[in-house]
Amino acid sequence: MTSDVQDTAGMTADDERAREADATWQDDVREGVRHVRDLDSLPLSPAERAAAQAAATHHKVRIPKTYLDLIDWSDPADPIRAQVIPSPDELAEQEGELDDPIADHAFSPVPRLTHRHADRVLLFPTYQCAVYCRFCFRKESLTSIGRGYSREALDEAFAYIEAHPEIREVILTGGDPLSLPDKALAEIRARIEAVPHVRLLRIHTRVPVALPSRITSGLVAALQGRLMVTVVTHFNHPREITSRAEQACRTLRQGGFVLLNQSVLLKGVNDTVEVLEELCRELMYRLGVKPYYLHHGDLARGMAHRRTTIAEGQALVSALRARLSGICNPGYVLDLPQGGGKVLLGPCCVEAREGETWRIRGLDGEVRAYREVVEE
Ligand code: SF4
Repeated sequence: MTSDVQDTAGMTADDERAREADATWQDDVREGVRHVRDLDSLPLSPAERAAAQAAATHHKVRIPKTYLDLIDWSDPADPIRAQVIPSPDELAEQEGELDDPIADHAFSPVPRLTHRHADRVLLFPTYQCAVYCRFCFRKESLTSIGRGYSREALDEAFAYIEAHPEIREVILTGGDPLSLPDKALAEIRARIEAVPHVRLLRIHTRVPVALPSRITSGLVAALQGRLMVTVVTHFNHPREITSRAEQACRTLRQGGFVLLNQSVLLKGVNDTVEVLEELCRELMYRLGVKPYYLHHGDLARGMAHRRTTIAEGQALVSALRARLSGICNPGYVLDLPQGGGKVLLGPCCVEAREGETWRIRGLDGEVRAYREVVEE
């Protein structure tokens, strides 16, 4: 977007604002944790620091300043801290945990693309993120591939999309696509738009949560074009819903993008009805972001200490269903290993079926009979 208001140096007021916005998010990155050695500057005990440094050798560490500032250091179990500060528990891998929990690689016909379901593909423009989440199910790819964006790196992926007319949706995922510069985003968006059978661009990102200052008018402009754009954010706890995140989501909404959220159910972070209820309400009411999925924790290595059981998750979403309106309720899903896709784990209200009569549990917990009446 441009403005006809010029300052004396020939720079428009909008140019100046864009420059200031860019400086803000770059400062946020610079002043945060970018390397393992930056853990030295955090208020950790010597034992905690040594443990964090050991765990950080297995999965990268990066935390923008704004997100770091949300941590209550007086609480060792702080839910923000739990998501980004490496824990020695990550070194305790369990049997059954996987490098590639949802089989991205098995369904990757060309580099940087996964085609698991006929009408959509995942495109990985970068394997870098603005923040590295300890629970990430792609952490092995972020470590082993780890590369950033280049136009050429996506050539085979775009040739594949062009050759497959059944593909309707392209999902930019990560690494975090919104960690890329505006110029790269505009280039990627234009290449996707040039494929006539693609109808929807989806962007999966944790930037509005962890680096909200990055959501600038320049970034929005880079993504605007012929395609409907859905931005799927990744808020996990109500404390992440700050005035900065609110501004970021407002900027995205005003850009014309549809906003959805997917959370991961994390033990010790958001595994209570009260936390999830507040999270879902604030997402919808304050940010205008529809709670879309609540993911059961994937089988990422070293994450047993953050996974709940499926039964615990089902009890939580049953309670949520009774408290929240439909628009605030997320679907509780498991992304099956071996590429089975996302399946709903609950809440399931059907208790039994006897011929034409179904026994269905209502929001009040009572099971009622419902007899189907259809034309013979
Ligand atoms: S931002 Fe997403 S891809 Fe990156 S570490 Fe976090 S969960 Fe993983």
